Amino acid sequence: MNEQITEQEINAAGHLTIGGCDTLKLAHQYGTPLVVYDVAKIRDQIRRFRRVFETNHVAYAVSYASKAFAAVAMYQVAAAEGAHVDVVSAGELYTAIKAGFPMERVSFHGNNKSRAELLMAIRHHVGFIMLDNFHEIDLLADLLEQEDATIKVMLRITPGISAHTNKYIQTGQVDSKFGFDLQSGQADEALKRVLANPRMKMKGLHAHIGSQIFELAGFEGVAKKLVEVANHWQKQYGYQAEIINVGGGFGIRYVNADHPLMPEEFVDAIIKTIKKVVAQTDLTMPAIWIEPGRSIVGPAGYNLYTVGSRKDVPGLKSYVTVDGGMGDNIRPALYHAQYETVLAADPHAPLKEHVRLAGKYCESGDILSQDQALPATKPGDVLAMLDTGAYGYSMASNYNRNPRPAVVFAENGHSQVVIARESLADLVHLDRPYKAND
Ligand code: PLP
Repeated sequence: MNEQITEQEINAAGHLTIGGCDTLKLAHQYGTPLVVYDVAKIRDQIRRFRRVFETNHVAYAVSYASKAFAAVAMYQVAAAEGAHVDVVSAGELYTAIKAGFPMERVSFHGNNKSRAELLMAIRHHVGFIMLDNFHEIDLLADLLEQEDATIKVMLRITPGISAHTNKYIQTGQVDSKFGFDLQSGQADEALKRVLANPRMKMKGLHAHIGSQIFELAGFEGVAKKLVEVANHWQKQYGYQAEIINVGGGFGIRYVNADHPLMPEEFVDAIIKTIKKVVAQTDLTMPAIWIEPGRSIVGPAGYNLYTVGSRKDVPGLKSYVTVDGGMGDNIRPALYHAQYETVLAADPHAPLKEHVRLAGKYCESGDILSQDQALPATKPGDVLAMLDTGAYGYSMASNYNRNPRPAVVFAENGHSQVVIARESLADLVHLDRPYKAND
């Protein structure tokens, strides 16, 4: 029995539904592989994060880290739900602009923003530049002068805390390509440079400690550290931070063995820690920002595949192959990410065998699941892989010149294509014939 699927998600025919839409009908109507989002789940996650701040009367922003899934429709939903968004490239920013996303609610992240990207951000009046390194401070200073503009900025610091898939590590220094180091004084130096530039409006400080975090200690640790830095900056430089941004990384359930905390638990712990540490200082309570990516879109996403060939290796394993794979979800191949997969026609059907769920790409490593318990399957059956909404489509590729799948949003029993399936013509769209010069 798959714990991720509730009875409400199974219709009278016994089929899995997403956003009230029958998955077999979705597969038939739009083809497979298909990425489907349950929009109500996206909205609900944003609302749950927001509600904790509202209940606690704390100034805040829930800034959706759009690298997890970026599409015009996604920025529209985030805008409608009152979220901010983080972008990390001109492409994500462009998509947000196309979606009409309010630019004052956009933060631009990245450890090597180009001159063109910073210029684009200035000209589109992006809300916040998350400054990451000295080169960027110089670049931005130059561009602000050239454009006769000002912009709000925050400093990303490396807090000496990292948390990776369950493990919370506190070290003096973090070996990271992101942000200003605290111990060596880089963060102080960055602050001085920013404060000395009247075109940069220094708003606060930021840190992001990792991904798929299952415990509170990492968030409590980073929240405490950031307030301590803010306190030091206030005492040393008379600068009072208005915003403390503790980043994202809130863990989600991929497999039944995962037991993540609720959004409420994470946010509650962050608020409590910041309030407590602020109370020990002369600081006024700053606004608290968080940057959830995976936890907003991960549980809302499903990949639908059609079963094709099967190979039984006697005495060893059976391979069941689907019509997608590493091109639409590279996470299993890239870092052994695990998911649960069910038969769309009968998600709670008795499990009959353990198979290796293979993709169709020409790589031995293109295995979607090393060990997937499934009912008996046959070619043409539709499988639904659960919780694929984060870093799946956003990392999709055209490897083997396979077109990327369509993305459909489903809500209240209605479905809509929000990213069209790539056509074969799309695949050669950027190709140019070569004329040999002989
Ligand atoms: N914020 C920053 C700065 C990040 O680098 C990331 C992910 O890499 C996130 C937020 C989102 O993390 P997650 O999707 O794990 O919530």
